[in-house]
Amino acid sequence: MTAEERHTRTHAQFPDSEPPRQENRMSKKVVVVGAGFAGLVAARELQLAGLDVDVVEARDRIGGRAWTDERMGAKLELGATWVHWHQPHIWSEITRYGQGIYASPHVDAAYWVTGGKVRSGTEEEIDRKRLRAMDRIYEGSREFFPNPYDQLSALDDPALREKFLAADQRSVFDELDGGDFSQEEIDLTDAYWSGGFIGEPRQGSSLMAKQWAALCDHNMAAVDAQTLGYKLNNGMRGLYESIAGDLKNPVRLSSPVSKVSHSPSQATVTLHGGEEITCDAVIVTVPVGALGTVTFDPPLPEKMRKVVDQKWNSTGAKIWIKVKGRHNFMGMAPQPAPINMLRSEVLSDDSTIIVGFGAYHDKLDLNDPACGQKVIDQWLPDLEVTDCTGHDWVSDQWSGQAWATPRKGQFTDSWHHFRTTETRLRFAGADWANGWRGVCVDGALEMGVTTARGVIRDLA
Ligand SMILES: Cc1cc2nc3c(=O)[nH]c(=O)nc-3n(C[C@H](O)[C@H](O)[C@H](O)COP(=O)(O)OP(=O)(O)OC[C@H]3O[C@@H](n4cnc5c(N)ncnc54)[C@H](O)[C@@H]3O)c2cc1C
Repeated sequence: MTAEERHTRTHAQFPDSEPPRQENRMSKKVVVVGAGFAGLVAARELQLAGLDVDVVEARDRIGGRAWTDERMGAKLELGATWVHWHQPHIWSEITRYGQGIYASPHVDAAYWVTGGKVRSGTEEEIDRKRLRAMDRIYEGSREFFPNPYDQLSALDDPALREKFLAADQRSVFDELDGGDFSQEEIDLTDAYWSGGFIGEPRQGSSLMAKQWAALCDHNMAAVDAQTLGYKLNNGMRGLYESIAGDLKNPVRLSSPVSKVSHSPSQATVTLHGGEEITCDAVIVTVPVGALGTVTFDPPLPEKMRKVVDQKWNSTGAKIWIKVKGRHNFMGMAPQPAPINMLRSEVLSDDSTIIVGFGAYHDKLDLNDPACGQKVIDQWLPDLEVTDCTGHDWVSDQWSGQAWATPRKGQFTDSWHHFRTTETRLRFAGADWANGWRGVCVDGALEMGVTTARGVIRDLA
């Protein structure tokens, strides 16, 4: 890939924007497919520029993979949960809509499985034990990502290019090869990255981990704070409903798109049932796991289709488990545990609701308390599970994945193909972001805004 191609990939779709000319106000129409964060914020941006916007959403609710729902007597996040002020795009929205945040509880005790046995101590002890391995995994983050938002810049540097491509072919475990790491360090690494990739960590690209480090100033504690530290007072719902509340045209719910036809001058979106909407441009925010639900005419180029066929390394699930009594703890367990990381989140005197993450959705029956009990038994068999819940995002046809995490090789050959197109079809969505790509709402907001600005410029 040449420097020019890289520049095109990163910037051409989103060149410095200029305000749309007045005469274009309301004379152009854009359809946004999907009412997750990327779609909602793209629609708001387009509307602000005076364009006529229709948002069509397959589900009967907005929010996409963010979904705050009342379950087990609490307001639970079935998808996205944590936010941070160092994530620029979401912090801007939190500020805009006056949404407050609060910290996740600091746990009193930590339990971790290593060599088949359960050990106990504090979270700080776990952090110390995994530090050496994490430092090794994060190695290279400074040279590869001097600016983490220009994440492929190493490809332009002859001294780094081959090293960077090789790192993309290695997993976080391959990074530990040749080190004198103990079984305990390996097991804690396994547990952490099974959660981090929400998939098999041995199949994931180590570059994802290194970019996370760069986004967090190369600091392990900051990675934890950004990804597991703070929650929204009103939940994700407070934020996605606020953005939707600023849209003039109501989101068209329960309106799955079956086909997008696109040319250099216009696009047509066909809904299930046959209704056709002709427009000047279409922004598709559907994640890779669900892109197979849409037919494209002309078909997507081969490089994009390869990604849709392969999908991401995102095969896991998030579970909420309720137990009797107050138990403020965290647990970690390596593969083949059904849940690899868990921590208490909602505490009261007579019950605790615990959140967990595992690499394989098909090892879990998210709504079966017996499954929740099996999970808890890994660490604390004396606890009594009374309920459990979750949403299987991988089996859900409108997502087909949890958060997007790259397989080996996909960091340098996948997402960026979706950032350029020669027609009036544009892709937005967290899966294609420069910064917190796939894993965070921040990436969805980045893509929603930048893609909408690109369309506004094209149409002006
Ligand atoms: C379990 C889980 C936990 C997470 N935890 C966090 C976290 O703690 N913090 C964080 O910041 N992020 C987290 N994330 C990631 C975050 O949820 C996503 O990055 C973000 O919500 C993606 O937004 P999006 O708009 O790009 O995609 P989506 O939210 O997936 O929106 C795409 C929309 O397109 C719709 N759609 C799909 N197909 C069609 C079709 N054919 N026609 C019409 N509409 C269609 C979908 O229904 C959906 O509403 C988590 C994700 C998951 C799954």
